[in-house]
Amino acid sequence: MRKQINYPIISNNKNILGILGGGQLGKLIALAASKAGYKTHLYCPKGDNPAETAVDQITHGEWNDFEKLVNFSHNVICATSEFENIPSKSLELLANKTNVTPSSIVFRCAQIRSKEKEMALKSGFKTPKWFLIKNTDDLITASQYLGNEGILKTNSFGYDGKGQFRINSKTNLFEIWEKLGSVECVLEEILDFKREISLMYFKSTDNSDGFFPLSENYHQDGILIKTIAPAIVEQKIELDLRSKVKALSKNLNFYGILAIELFELNDGTIVFNEIAPRPHNSFHWTMDGCDNSQFDILIRSICGLPVKDVKNNGKWEMNNLIGEDMDHLDEIYSNQDYLLYLYGKKSTKPGRKMGHFTKQIK
Ligand code: ADP
Ligand code: MG
Repeated sequence: MRKQINYPIISNNKNILGILGGGQLGKLIALAASKAGYKTHLYCPKGDNPAETAVDQITHGEWNDFEKLVNFSHNVICATSEFENIPSKSLELLANKTNVTPSSIVFRCAQIRSKEKEMALKSGFKTPKWFLIKNTDDLITASQYLGNEGILKTNSFGYDGKGQFRINSKTNLFEIWEKLGSVECVLEEILDFKREISLMYFKSTDNSDGFFPLSENYHQDGILIKTIAPAIVEQKIELDLRSKVKALSKNLNFYGILAIELFELNDGTIVFNEIAPRPHNSFHWTMDGCDNSQFDILIRSICGLPVKDVKNNGKWEMNNLIGEDMDHLDEIYSNQDYLLYLYGKKSTKPGRKMGHFTKQIK
């Protein structure tokens, strides 16, 4: 059971915030916490963890090392996860001892594509046509139904376009099924969208809530490469979107920050893609484009401080530095208007997010 706290957690030497996951999101959460005067304690497996340089204490442990997790939970007043695929069992265990925001129920929903789509439909969103695929027979039937075109995605553990494959009439479905690991998948219709947008909602444990302005996103091979913000949609559509997000939040008993990836079709219809109950790459622009970034708002939300809608200061662009982009840093360094964030990862790999930069659009 979640230990209920009905007072804000303010920064003092005893109130240490727990961060689960050592990636760049963990690092940026820790920096926001530190800016606000909080101490932080990181829990993550050993590895190339950029967050380690930004926290006060570190526990190295596997996600299923329950003894270490329990010890960690005794040292923190609340905890939040930057790692979307954290086992929900680990979060449940932590929730017995400390305040975990967002909850294990929310993470479980975000981790299973079929579950998040069902929850989205229940909350009033449209989704692409989709089918749960448990074996090759299911795949053949669903593929025929979609006219032999679709995106096959593993039901769990996909990120940055990994664990998915576009199929067409020439695809050998047996080969693809094996290539994706012969695991439960969903097959989705391919949408011919006008653009991709994302939304960020937040709700503090004191029950106040709000939204960031929308982001407009560009992907290459399933990885986000660029965001432009704010994305403008008709007011009526944005209000409708907000009421659906609030319904989703209510259905999940949600607290924390919640990103929702969406497709905007040519006729203006908005279609749900997926949720992420953590800071999201498409809102990194808020670090420079807003008085409170998504990381600042996450800290406020998990600590029970009041929150409200965040406004943007001008128009912004955010570009990711992925893999070999690191070979071309000179141009970015040479322009003071490019606000550069390097995550400090020790090794560069193709497709690995190494940093990003923002710039204001005049
Ligand atoms: P991930 O969990 O890897 O982010 P997504 O489901 O968001 O997986 O897919 C990554 C990208 O692939 C999306 O941002 C979009 O560009 C493209 N994509 C995913 N699903 C569809 C779809 N049904 N139709 C068209 N493009 C899609
Ligand atoms: Mg995505």
